Amino acid sequence: MSKIVMKFGGSSVATTEKIQHIATRINHEKVNGNDVVVVVSAMGKTTDNLLGLAMELSENPTKREMDTLLSTGEQITMALLAIQLNEIGFDTVSLTGWQANLQTDNVHRNARIENLDATRILDLLAENKIVVVAGFQGVSGEGDITTLGRGGSDTTAVAIAAAIEADICDIYTDVDGIYTSDPRFVQNARKLEQLEYDEMLELANLGAGVLHPRAVEFAKNYKIPLRVRSSYNEDVGTILKEEVDVENNLVVRGVAFEADIVRLTIEYEVPFNGSLASIFTTLAANHINVDIIVQSIVDGKKPTVSFSIKKESLAEAITVLESNKEALGFIFADFEVGLAKVSIVGSGMVSNPGVAAQMFDRLRKENIPVKMVSTSEIKVSVVVPQNDMIPAANALHDEFDLALV
Ligand code: ADP
Ligand code: ASP
Ligand code: MG
Repeated sequence: MSKIVMKFGGSSVATTEKIQHIATRINHEKVNGNDVVVVVSAMGKTTDNLLGLAMELSENPTKREMDTLLSTGEQITMALLAIQLNEIGFDTVSLTGWQANLQTDNVHRNARIENLDATRILDLLAENKIVVVAGFQGVSGEGDITTLGRGGSDTTAVAIAAAIEADICDIYTDVDGIYTSDPRFVQNARKLEQLEYDEMLELANLGAGVLHPRAVEFAKNYKIPLRVRSSYNEDVGTILKEEVDVENNLVVRGVAFEADIVRLTIEYEVPFNGSLASIFTTLAANHINVDIIVQSIVDGKKPTVSFSIKKESLAEAITVLESNKEALGFIFADFEVGLAKVSIVGSGMVSNPGVAAQMFDRLRKENIPVKMVSTSEIKVSVVVPQNDMIPAANALHDEFDLALV
């Protein structure tokens, strides 16, 4: 007998028929003698629709109220699934995030899990019940509802798997595993049988929406076997591990991309007496995530610093920078929208110099301009015009032979 966590994403629970279908998969695991905790997302496009409703009323609703609103989506699914499982004869209890004791910090819309006391879930499992938990939500120390960021139900599932010491955490979705790139946009993307936590963590952080980055972080830290598989077929999916055998000595394992990137540029008066850190400290204090940073100090020119952020943070970033302009000591701030980030990832890169050069060479041949670059031991990212994002991803997928088995 094993303890398993099964997580179903929005498209897998989009209708009551689909809920009936996944109930048969859950039923299968239960009759095989497993203890089963199920984590669910909101049905289909519910979260987007709820966001749309709020936007009809306000351009800038408070994050606290947004969390109260958005968390309702998952609550609908958990109750419907529990109703269906009870209907087919399985004793089932549904729990919201706070009923499951999932404690978070108070960063509304992007809260981090701080603690999960699994006593209630474990007691229910001991009573031979199936437990269905609403993904994506928790409760802050102040007792307010929080949400974990878009795609955060994956993180709920892995956090529960860690807390109950599950044998496996299965993420059921609309693709049958993790691919070398998003199969919706890269024609020759190929399904991987296994992938390293670190590689997946980079891919997820760089825009591969198949898993929430914090879910991968949790799985790595608590050594949870994490598998991504399809809700619609029996394929074994892709398993994440600490280390995997590299197929065909491929240095690059995946290509990820992310739209809606903005580049901000700040120019300083000379002599500049301030600290570069102060801008980034101020942005961080306002929970604005800065990604790539490029500083340019050239004799005879005013020093500049450019950095990239997500478009959704632009209005807030400008407000924060403008209101601290004097204290931060800059004289000019400009921004460029319509950009995207394309990245190649692979743990073998560290010992293979020349990968970045090969990437730039191919992009040049494709006439794709590179606006910013960032590298680490296992990735190279470039910022390019958004219109070039998908062509760049396809070209790099081809350049590094990712379609080959
Ligand atoms: P769910 O609602 O089940 O959480 P998501 O839409 O969040 O599903 O994640 C699944 C989607 O992730 C796929 O439909 C696919 O388009 C996208 N995706 C992005 N990168 C990858 C990748 N490397 N491998 C597989 N799918 C990917
Ligand atoms: N429903 C939330 C979202 O759409 C969380 C999730 O699906 O993981 O982002
Ligand atoms: Mg998802």
